[in-house]
Amino acid sequence: MLSAFGCSSSGPNGAGGAATPGDSGAYLYSRYENPTVMAVEQTLARVDGAEMSLAFASGMAATATALIGLLQAGDEIVCAAAIYGGTFHIIEDVLPRLGIDRRFVSLDELAAPERLIGPRTRVLWFESPINPTLRCVDVARIAGACRKAVVTSVIDNTFASPINQQALALGVDISMQSATKYLNGHSDVTGGVLSGPRRLIEPLGRLRRLLGGILDPQPAYALGRGLKTLALRVARHNSNALAVAQALDGHPRIERVYYPGLRSHPDHDVASRQMSGFGGMVCLDVKGGQERAYRSFDRLQIIKRAASLGGVESLCSLPILTSQYGLSDEELAAAGVTRGMMRLSDT
Ligand code: PLP
Repeated sequence: MLSAFGCSSSGPNGAGGAATPGDSGAYLYSRYENPTVMAVEQTLARVDGAEMSLAFASGMAATATALIGLLQAGDEIVCAAAIYGGTFHIIEDVLPRLGIDRRFVSLDELAAPERLIGPRTRVLWFESPINPTLRCVDVARIAGACRKAVVTSVIDNTFASPINQQALALGVDISMQSATKYLNGHSDVTGGVLSGPRRLIEPLGRLRRLLGGILDPQPAYALGRGLKTLALRVARHNSNALAVAQALDGHPRIERVYYPGLRSHPDHDVASRQMSGFGGMVCLDVKGGQERAYRSFDRLQIIKRAASLGGVESLCSLPILTSQYGLSDEELAAAGVTRGMMRLSDT
């Protein structure tokens, strides 16, 4: 499948041609390559511990390019049901139109990944920690099962960041991230990243030329500057979020606090094994459901009401109005999301 994006096809809209780097060293066109983008990709590869990284115009551009590049008609993707809403919709609504089957699996099923892989499975896509519940799965076990079955494992490592979780070192084939979040860290860039071994990433780079999802040089420069403080920012996110989670745990108006650093979190043990910090996200399940969550949200004064995360502002969003917008009750239940949840991005 991947050979379909080979450099041999030259022409105005195709990949490759005599003046493409590798032949002459020239930079022909910024949809193909750009020196500022390549510089930030080298930094991203170092941060991810990867042989190669590609920068995209958004996390969704990275996701779409990976899915289209790794799968073809007749293949199947196995995907965690608890997943970022945009990823869910591309797999649920777009891939079937390309003849690609999808199978969504629960966290319980992901605990025995060996049993999930069928004869047509080519990709297993998952997150850890998961948006917005911060449930975690055993990354090394999933990656190991995939490797044994020659299935490509892809993790969305956005919530952890490579500072807290070195997904590739845990054995995952490809790490995808929304650079819009921690990597850039200043809420002023939209970007995405794919990192992994050259044999997998290079063909996706050729596909990126055709699909056109490369990061623009200006945000690439900003992302490179943001990355300089990534380790410092994430360390502070970790300590502040833990303090917020501990302060709210047991609060009479809160049903439950989800934070992997709390001993009460169902995945605290696995998170402690595979993460060196627990991240800046805290999820609250407010007593009184949707009505109470709306009311508390409307009364926030210091924390800003906004969708994103991982910047230097403290933000709050309601998952049913943002990342899980439009999901049915059954789909919400499968993702472990309630209508009373408030998601905090702590700084
Ligand atoms: N993955 C996760 C976990 C996200 O939270 C998001 C966006 O919120 C994305 C992927 C998509 O990234 P982007 O908005 O940069 O396209």
